[in-house]
Amino acid sequence: MTTAAESPERRTTSVEGRASLPIERKLPLLILAILTLVLATSLAISYYEVRRSAQVSAGERLTRLSRSLASLMEQQITGRLTAMRRVALDTNVQNAFATPDREPSVAAKRAMLSIMMPSDSLTPITLWTASGRLIGTLRLEQAADVERFRATLAEQIATSDSQHVTKLTSMNGHAGSWQSVPVHKDGQLLGFLAQERRFTASPRTLQPFRDLIGNGIDFYIRNAGDSLWTQLSGLIVPPPARTAEFGDTLEVLTTAGRDNLASTTPVRGTPFVVTLEQPMDDILARPRAMIRVLAVLAVVLVVVGGLVAWVMSRQIVRPLTELTGAVESFAHGEYSKRVHGGDGDEIGRLGSAFNRMAEQVEDASLKSSRAVEQLTKSVATQQFLADASRLLSMSLSDQNLLTDVARFCVPTIADYCSIHLADDDGTVRRVETTHRDPEKLEALRALLGHYSYRLDGPGEVPGVIRSQLPLIVPRIDHTTTLSTAPDEETRALLHIVRPTSYLCVPLVARGRSVGAISLTMTDSGRTYTPEDMNLAMELARRTAVAVDNALIYRRSLALRLEAEAASNAKSDFLAKMSHEFRTPINAMVGYAELLEMGISGPVTLAQAKQLARIRVSGEHLTGLVNEILDFAKIEAGGMRIEAANGTASDAVDAALALIRPQAVNKGVELDSKPVNGDRVEYVGDPQRVRQVLTNLLSNAVKFTPSGGKVSVRWSFGERPGTGPVANVPHWASIAVEDTGVGISPTDMDRVFDPFVQVDEGYTRAQGGTGLGLAISRKLAEMMGGAITVESTLGQGSRFTLWLPSPDSCTTTVA
Ligand code: ADP
Repeated sequence: MTTAAESPERRTTSVEGRASLPIERKLPLLILAILTLVLATSLAISYYEVRRSAQVSAGERLTRLSRSLASLMEQQITGRLTAMRRVALDTNVQNAFATPDREPSVAAKRAMLSIMMPSDSLTPITLWTASGRLIGTLRLEQAADVERFRATLAEQIATSDSQHVTKLTSMNGHAGSWQSVPVHKDGQLLGFLAQERRFTASPRTLQPFRDLIGNGIDFYIRNAGDSLWTQLSGLIVPPPARTAEFGDTLEVLTTAGRDNLASTTPVRGTPFVVTLEQPMDDILARPRAMIRVLAVLAVVLVVVGGLVAWVMSRQIVRPLTELTGAVESFAHGEYSKRVHGGDGDEIGRLGSAFNRMAEQVEDASLKSSRAVEQLTKSVATQQFLADASRLLSMSLSDQNLLTDVARFCVPTIADYCSIHLADDDGTVRRVETTHRDPEKLEALRALLGHYSYRLDGPGEVPGVIRSQLPLIVPRIDHTTTLSTAPDEETRALLHIVRPTSYLCVPLVARGRSVGAISLTMTDSGRTYTPEDMNLAMELARRTAVAVDNALIYRRSLALRLEAEAASNAKSDFLAKMSHEFRTPINAMVGYAELLEMGISGPVTLAQAKQLARIRVSGEHLTGLVNEILDFAKIEAGGMRIEAANGTASDAVDAALALIRPQAVNKGVELDSKPVNGDRVEYVGDPQRVRQVLTNLLSNAVKFTPSGGKVSVRWSFGERPGTGPVANVPHWASIAVEDTGVGISPTDMDRVFDPFVQVDEGYTRAQGGTGLGLAISRKLAEMMGGAITVESTLGQGSRFTLWLPSPDSCTTTVA
C-alpha cells in the first residue's frame, strides 16, 4: 500500500470510478481561487470607486472653473457693451449720422476713442447706418468683414435693439465676433456703434486665466452648437472627433485618440460657450497608481494566502489522505496498514478508531483464515480417510489390501511407501513397495532388498513394530545417510532414491502389532509434520483393523469350508450306512417271512413266534434306518417337498390308521375331531404331513400310559402369539394332545434337537432314535409351517403342526 506521501502524483478515485485531484491539492487550490476572486473583485470595486470619485471631483472642478471663466467673460463683454452704450448717447456721435458720407466730427471720434482699448488698434469702433452703411471714410481691413457685419446687422435689429454680440467667426485665422449697440435719437434708431472683437490675447493677458485654471486644463470658446473651436489665444482648432455625454453636465471629448473630460458653460448675453477639458489620463493617473499598488499588495496577499492554505491543508489533509489510503487498502483486504497517531483532534480520534478497528478485523481475519485452513485440512484429511476406508472395505484379501493401501498413499502423503508385516517366526517381511516415479521403483526395491529385518533385531521398522509407537524424521541428512551405507552399491542406490523425510507408523489390531507402514518423501521437497503423523496413525489403525478382519474372514472361510466338508461327509456316511443297513435287514426280514411261511419246511409254534419277533424287529430297524436316512437327506439338502393343497382330516385319518393298532395294543384311547368346520385346508406335501402326524401320534401313544387318551384336533384360524412364522395371517393347525408323562419346561426346546431323548430311562423303554421330532420340525419348516409344543410334566403334552392355509398363500402372494 502506498500513501499520498509516498506517491504525490497519485490521483484519488471517486466512488463512480472517476479520477479527481487529491484533496490535499484541491483544498489549497480552492482557497487560492477564492482568495484571488475576492481580492480581484475588491480590487475592481475599489478601482471603480476611486476612478469614479476622481472623475467626479475633476468634473466638479472643471464645472466650477468653466462657470467662473464664463462669468468673467460675461463681465468683460457686459462692461464693454455698457461703455459702448454710453458712447452711443453722445450727441456728437448721434450727429455723425446726419452726414453719413462725411467723417464723424472730432468730438465724435474722441468720444469713440475714449473707450478704445490698446488691443483694439486693428479693429476700430465704427458707426453704421440702420441700412448697413459705414459712416465716414474709414476703410476696414477687409471687405469680407464689412459683409459679415452687415449679415449680422439684420439679426441684431430682429433680436434686440439694445446690444448685440455676434457668433464667433474666423477672421484672418483668428476667431472674432462683432459687438454692437444701437444709436437712438429722440426715440428713433439712427444706426449702430459697432466694433469687431478678436481673440488675440497675449501671454500677459492669458496669464490670469492660466493662473485660475491651472496647468493641464485646456480652455476653449465656441459658439453653442457650432463646430468652430477657439483657444483663448484666438487660435482656431479642430473640434473633437467624438463627443459623448458623461453624467448630467459633463462630456467626454475624444481628440487625437485621447479622451478628455469636459465641462461647458454658456456665456450669458452672448451666443458662445466656454469649454474646459482635462485629459482623462491625467484624471485617472492617481487612481491607476493607487490600484497598481493595491494590485501588487493583492498578489502578495494571494501568494502568502496560498502558501498558508497549502501548509494548513497539508496539516489537515495529510492525516486524512493517510487514513483514506489505509481505508482503501482495508477495502482491498489488506488489514495490516495503520495510520499514525493524530493530535487528539477529530482526525486523530478517527485514526485511532480506525487502527483499533483494523486490529480487530485483522485479528478476526487471521482467526477465520486459520479456521478455514484447518477446516480445509480437516476436510482433506476426512476425505483421505474416507477414501482409505472405502478402499479398505472393498478388499477382502489382506495381500491385495496392503498393495492398495501402499498405492493409495503415493503420492498423496508419500513419495514412496513400503509396508512390512511381522511373521510368527520373528521375521519382518516387506509385502509392498510403491514409488511416485515408476523409473525409481526398481532402484528403491533394490535398495530395500539390502535391508532385512527381524522383529528382535535393529532397524526403524522392527523398532516401531515392537514399541507400537510412530517414528518421525522430518529431515534426513543425505550425507549422514550415505555414510551409514554398508557398501558402494547401497550408496549408489541411496543416491538415486535420496530420501529427505521419513515417517513410520505401526499396524496395531486388537492390541497386537502386526506390521508397519513406512512413508518417505524424496525430491518433492515435502517434510513430515506431527499432523501428518496423526493422519498416518489413523490410516494405519484403519488398515490394521481391515487386515485383521481380512485375516479373520480368511480363517472363518476356511473353517466354514471345513465344517461344510465335514457335514457333507457325515451326510454321505449316514446315507451310505443306512443303505448298507437296509439291504441286509430287508434280506433278514424276507428270509424270516419265508421261514414263517414254511417254504423251507414246517416250523413249530415256538419257532414261528421267534420268527415273528425277528420280522418285527427287522421292520422296526428299517423304520429307524429310514428316519436316519430322512434326517441325512434333510441335512444334505436332498429332501424334495411338494407344495399342494390338502385337507387336515385326510391327513389325520391316514395317520390314525397307521397308529391305531399300536394304541389298541397299549390300551390308549384315540379321539379325533375338527374344531371349527370339518374342511380345513392346508398348503404342503400331503405325504410329509402324514409322516409328521404319524410321528406326533406315535410319540403321544408311546409316552401315554395304558388307559390314557390321545386326541387330535384340527382347525382353521389365526395363530396366536409370536414365532418364526408369525407373519403368516391364516393358518391350518392340527394338534395332537395326550394325557401322558409330559415334558419339563427346561426340556421343551431340546426335544426338537436331533438324537435328543429327554427322559432316557422311559424313552429307552419305549425305544426310538431321538430323530422323530427333529425331522418333523424340519419338514414343517420346509413347508412354510412350524411345530409348537405345550406341556405339563406328569399331565400330558400338546404338539401342534401349523401349516399355511391357501388363503394365506393367496394373501402372501398378493
Ligand atoms: P424318539 O424316537 O425317542 O421318540 P423323538 O424325536 O420323537 O424321538 O422324541 C424325542 C423325545 O421327546 C422323546 O424321547 C421323549 O423323551 C420326548 N417326547 C416326544 N413326544 C412326547 C410326548 N408326547 N410326551 C412326552 N415326551 C415326549
